[in-house]
Parts: sequence; C-alpha cells; structure tokens
Amino acid sequence: MFNLTRRHMIAATAGALATITTTRIATAQQQSAATDGGEGPFKLPSLPYGYDVLEAAIDTDTMHLHHDKHHAAYVANLNAAAKQSPQIADHPMEHLLANLDQVPDGVRTTVRNNLGGHVNHSMFWEIMGGTGTAPAGEAAAAIERDFGGLDQLKTAFNTTGAKIFGSGWVFVTVTQEGKLGIEARPNQDTPLMEGKRVLFGNDVWEHSYYLRYQNRRADYLSAWWTVVNWTKIDERYAAARQGKLTI
Ligand code: MN
Repeated sequence: MFNLTRRHMIAATAGALATITTTRIATAQQQSAATDGGEGPFKLPSLPYGYDVLEAAIDTDTMHLHHDKHHAAYVANLNAAAKQSPQIADHPMEHLLANLDQVPDGVRTTVRNNLGGHVNHSMFWEIMGGTGTAPAGEAAAAIERDFGGLDQLKTAFNTTGAKIFGSGWVFVTVTQEGKLGIEARPNQDTPLMEGKRVLFGNDVWEHSYYLRYQNRRADYLSAWWTVVNWTKIDERYAAARQGKLTI
C-alpha cells in the first residue's frame, strides 16, 4: 500500500478521475430517467387529475416536484434494483413489503425505502383530487364508531402527523372487519410491512409542503383535508372489507 511509485500514483489518479466522470454521467442519466421512473418493471402512475387541481391545499409546483421528481426517483431506484434482483418484480408489491426478510440482502434496504415510497405515493395521489366534503359510504359509519366522528378523526390524525419527528407518514389503517386505526411511520415505511392495510394517509416529509407552508406542518395537515377524495376512500374501504385492497 505504501510502495506506490509516481507512475502508479498517476495511473491511480487517472483511474479516480475516470470513476468520477462515470459517476457524473450515471447521475445525469438517473436524473433524466427520474422524470418518468425509467425503464423496468415498476411504473410511475400518472396523476389522476391535473397538477393544479389541489391548489386549495397543495401548490402546482409542489405537485410537479413531488410526483415527477420524488416519486419518479423511487420508481427509478426500484427499476435499478430489479436489474440486480429481477425476482423482486415477480411478487405483488404488498407481499414483498410484508416479507422484506425474504428480499435478497443486496437490495433489501433499497426495496424497503423505494417500494415503500412507491406504494405510499401511489395511494396518496389516488385518495386526493376531491373536494374534501365527507365520506358517505360504509366508511362514514366506521369513522363514527371508531373515532366518534369525522372532526375527531381529523384532530387525532393531524396531531399524530404533527408529532412525527423528521420525515414520515400518518396513516388510517383498516382491518378486513372494517376497524380503523391511526398509525405513524418514519421514512417511507408503511403498515403494509406488517401485513396491514392502509385506508388512506398523508405525507409529512418536508418536500410535500415546504414551498407553500415552510415549517408550518400543522397548517398543511389542516388544509390537506379540503382536497381529500372521500369517494375513493369509500371504495378502498369496501375493497378492504372484501379482502381486495392491495396497496
Ligand atoms: Mn413524498
């Protein structure tokens, strides 16, 4: 290690520079691919509404960054992991998350963070785009039974979301019997990792609110209810009761 000649050192330096250059090219490619999730078995879902539709709570720039950059990067990272371990694309996503111990060591952390991120955001886009009125279906009765009403649910959910230290999510989980619960998770973790089902959830990573709300996470949590799509949540509740809710 200590007998490097000058010639060796020059060669080693050239090698290091080549590595840096290669890394820069790879990063640039990853960034350009990251607007659509790149090539591979995992796909970035399109938003089911326009980027400006949630303006009452979430600004258009945040929606572009959040969907086209953050979510796309999770999908691109998953597709890169699938090149290394193609079998990760052979299982339903909720099964993979519930059995992370069976995911190959070399991609397990990547799958935990990026598949978690992919399913969390796919759910998140789906359950927004409404006018935040109120649930109408069976979910309404469950909210009344398990929380005492929608206002109580909102208060408990917002309090839990405000308390999360750093990045994470606040979820309402649902059992097949229809029982609801509020659960917080750090990073891109999800109750799916314990085999549970998510009725809906809100993203409290700073990237989801910082442009408009800066450090006022509680204001974001309160405003967010005005764009929740209760029709979709009713559908997810019915699917959970039938054992058909996946992610
Ligand atoms: Mn996010």
